[in-house]
Amino acid sequence: MKQYQADIVVVAAGPAGLAAAVQAAENGARVIVCEKTAMTGGAANMGMGPLGIGTRYQRQEGKEITLEKAFNMFMEYTHYNVDARLVRRYFAQSADTLDWLEGMGVEFEGAFRYFPQSEATWHIVKTDKGIGPRAAAVMNKALYNRAVELGVHFLLKTPVQKILKEGPKVCGVLATDRDGEAVQIDCKAAIICTGGAGGNKQMILEETGYRHGEDLFSFAIPGLVGDGLRMAWEAGADHMPVRMEGAASVEGCEGLSASVSSVFYQPNLLVNWLGERVMNEEQASNSTFLHNVVSHQKDKICFSVLDRSIVEHYEKDGVDVRSLVRPNPDVSDFCDNMEKAREQGNTKLYQADSLRELAEKMGIDPERFEQTVTAYNGYCETGDTEFFKDKRFLLPIWKAPFYAARIRPSGYGTVGGIRINENCEACGPDFYPIPGLYAAGADACNIYDDSYMFLLPGNSMGFAINSGRIAGMSAAEYVSGKGLSKEE
Ligand SMILES: Cc1cc2nc3c(=O)[nH]c(=O)nc-3n(C[C@H](O)[C@H](O)[C@H](O)COP(=O)(O)OP(=O)(O)OC[C@H]3O[C@@H](n4cnc5c(N)ncnc54)[C@H](O)[C@@H]3O)c2cc1C
Repeated sequence: MKQYQADIVVVAAGPAGLAAAVQAAENGARVIVCEKTAMTGGAANMGMGPLGIGTRYQRQEGKEITLEKAFNMFMEYTHYNVDARLVRRYFAQSADTLDWLEGMGVEFEGAFRYFPQSEATWHIVKTDKGIGPRAAAVMNKALYNRAVELGVHFLLKTPVQKILKEGPKVCGVLATDRDGEAVQIDCKAAIICTGGAGGNKQMILEETGYRHGEDLFSFAIPGLVGDGLRMAWEAGADHMPVRMEGAASVEGCEGLSASVSSVFYQPNLLVNWLGERVMNEEQASNSTFLHNVVSHQKDKICFSVLDRSIVEHYEKDGVDVRSLVRPNPDVSDFCDNMEKAREQGNTKLYQADSLRELAEKMGIDPERFEQTVTAYNGYCETGDTEFFKDKRFLLPIWKAPFYAARIRPSGYGTVGGIRINENCEACGPDFYPIPGLYAAGADACNIYDDSYMFLLPGNSMGFAINSGRIAGMSAAEYVSGKGLSKEE
């Protein structure tokens, strides 16, 4: 068995682990990071940037949101079902964290809204390729470089399996290295940040009730299987609810042009199995809301419906809702791709020459569906007295061919599971900290209650980096002998 010594072992090198390692090393601790894969950055390499509240970008761009406003908004959204002290500390630190990252050479494009109803809290990382997915990989690289500069030692391809304790205190971790050899690292503190269980079908079923691959399609990166949750619970941490960070997906688009999903993600008419309309579709840009609406329907399915005239409008004028993730997608090959789907016998995407035929293909009640479309077309003329959708997005459905797609719940991964306090100390069922055990990021993100808070975008990466920093500060203080944790 290989043996190492450190003050602190950081379990995993996603943004939470990287931030924890840098902060702990800056505060004087000797740190080893064990990462399961060959890469650092975790799921955040796919994302674009973290949340900031009260930042200079918001002030400069006239989009300011104060700590007081964000805090109250957040606590009301979660019905005060979450730890107000932790939320406050995270939000209060978030602007300083952007400065801290800038000190490592990270630059930001500014403060952005994810969708029109959200606040401009999403701070997108600047890259040499402009705004787009994977921008946050640049931030992760800067965190990694800073950690190396501070003398943090990285053991890649070294998954941690167990937290070791001597009495009530953490005294080490057990891992397996890239050669399959057992590794023991003696340490005074461990910070768990393994990113949740978004790739673990069994855990998702047990914890959330969703059947991953059947009624939920998580797009979490591989390898996020709840290792940290299991290790923390085994070490005595309280088992908090594990939730999906929900989103929604268009089913059946594999092998087709991105224009198909881009068109069906627009605020088109949304109906359920009964052929009934389900929401103000304008709100569907908030993927948390769409996830919840779809999850509440029979078989967790909704249908996005449109006609040839709407496709023509998107082709000519561009799509109605544009985001920074899908800035202005080219949808000119939508009809060709729907034709391709039909030829391939795709059973999730539908087109027909009449509304009745479309309903039969979708397997929904044709009469009710026709009534719903008639009522919806009426709202397009006189205003939506049912769900109050803005007139800009009310487009009548009348011109064949008609198109529909199935919308299903999906998710970025799981959030929550390990009880922590505002110092990111992992706590037992008695709410007292376990000496030397800390958790951060998705594993410990219990702050959304049942639904991800997308009205303040950048929230999950923001929580990961800020909770990582807090855990790094707390653990460094603990190992220096001035710790916050109570000794038994
Ligand atoms: C496509 C996509 C886009 C996103 N965009 C954004 C965005 O723009 N803004 C935002 O706020 N959020 C975004 N998110 C969410 C955000 O990326 C996550 O909230 C964040 O990465 C969580 O950080 P983390 O450090 O907790 O976990 P992760 O980033 O998931 O990292 C976990 C790490 O743990 C490692 N690991 C797992 N088990 C072990 C083990 N046993 N031992 C050692 N290592 C282990 C994994 O290999 C991984 O490197 C996005 C997510 C996805 C999937």
